[in-house]
Amino acid sequence: MDSTLPAVAEELLKEIKKAFQETSHVPDDLLLGLKFIFGPSAVPALDLVDQHSVTRVMSPSGRTAYQVLGSSGKLYTCYSSCHFCTCPAFGFTVLQKSESLLCKHILAVYLSQAIGACQELSVSEEQLTSILLAEEEDEG
Ligand SMILES: [Zn+2]
Repeated sequence: MDSTLPAVAEELLKEIKKAFQETSHVPDDLLLGLKFIFGPSAVPALDLVDQHSVTRVMSPSGRTAYQVLGSSGKLYTCYSSCHFCTCPAFGFTVLQKSESLLCKHILAVYLSQAIGACQELSVSEEQLTSILLAEEEDEG
């Protein structure tokens, strides 16, 4: 596992996973913890999870990316392995200003992983490559 998140955040995601496995439900105290740690990203991320907006895209060689359908209808590509998202908020508030740990899309990926809510999509190597390259050309 990559430790790009503070230990307290990883611990919280683990607790959410455990609670969800046992009760199919995320208890209120853990939801409050999410809001405390992730601030304004928490509620929109939970909405994305509720709407099943997170898709795990896998190629035959095992390369994996996540696509998250944002609230504006735009598709963002997230990499949980290197903790990166292609949305403008990630570039600005996370990378430039260090105001947030992550954007709502990556948080939605982590939460979907924790509670097993990812949609799964198998694609060819070429398709995965074009997904990754398409984001580059999509600027502006
Ligand atoms: Zn994002």
